Amino acid sequence: MAVQNLKPNVNSSSSIHNADLIKSVRDKNLKSLLARQKLHLVLDLDNTLLHSNPMIKLTKYDRDYLQRSGHNDHWVTKLRPNAETFLKEASALFEFSILTFGTRKYARKMLKLLDPEELYFANSQVIAREDIRSKPLKKGFDLVLSHERVVLVVDDIKEVWEDDNAKNLIKIAPYKFFDDESSSKKSWSRNWADESEKYGELARVLRELKKTHKEFYNIEDEQDYESRDVRDVIEEVKRKFLLQGTKEGTSKHAKEMINEIDECFKSMGLNCRTNGPNVIVQTNHMVM
Ligand SMILES: [Mg+2]
Repeated sequence: MAVQNLKPNVNSSSSIHNADLIKSVRDKNLKSLLARQKLHLVLDLDNTLLHSNPMIKLTKYDRDYLQRSGHNDHWVTKLRPNAETFLKEASALFEFSILTFGTRKYARKMLKLLDPEELYFANSQVIAREDIRSKPLKKGFDLVLSHERVVLVVDDIKEVWEDDNAKNLIKIAPYKFFDDESSSKKSWSRNWADESEKYGELARVLRELKKTHKEFYNIEDEQDYESRDVRDVIEEVKRKFLLQGTKEGTSKHAKEMINEIDECFKSMGLNCRTNGPNVIVQTNHMVM
């Protein structure tokens, strides 16, 4: 169903009609999700799954590097390490939607980069800048075609979400690959390195998503699925994690963490840009 046909309308009669229509689609989707033991995952694009920059905005450092490599496109996009595994594994547990402040055209291009074989987003709802009516721009669930109690969100900015919907959010640290002169932090590009596939943010968030999904469906009576709410489950998962932390798990957990960090540093060598421009995905797009 096309998203643009479901835009809330200020005109009262069509607004009620749209609200009824959205509710009936959500009811249907809920049944389908529960029957397949899936949940709905709303994904942000920029700085969550990738980092795009217009060439003109790149620092001289990055521009020189790319131009030396023969790239003169208008825009340049770098996919976040581990994006492919993230999408593959998360798609077994979730139906995806995209909600971005980028334009629809931009979102479509990014989805082609993320999913060239159309394995994950072929039937996904894409909610783009043109669809969002709130001013200032805010992200919310008004156009999402699933009931809030089965929707999880992954986004690098909590503040762009309506307060109520922030409870469904699993926040991810922003991915910033390209050099940024206004930031005091050295970019991955400047360090000739990249986020770790195994220990980076997408891997951590995937673990959180798997835990939440498992906990949601971890009840004996299937009839009770209908009464579950991911917002409660997110809290349950947090509580369980904290409880574990108070038991003998504490030292074990701390040790595992240190090992992870050690390995992460070791793996940095493997993730460095030894292959030069091969890690850069070039797109010649005049959008946004
Ligand atoms: Mg973002």
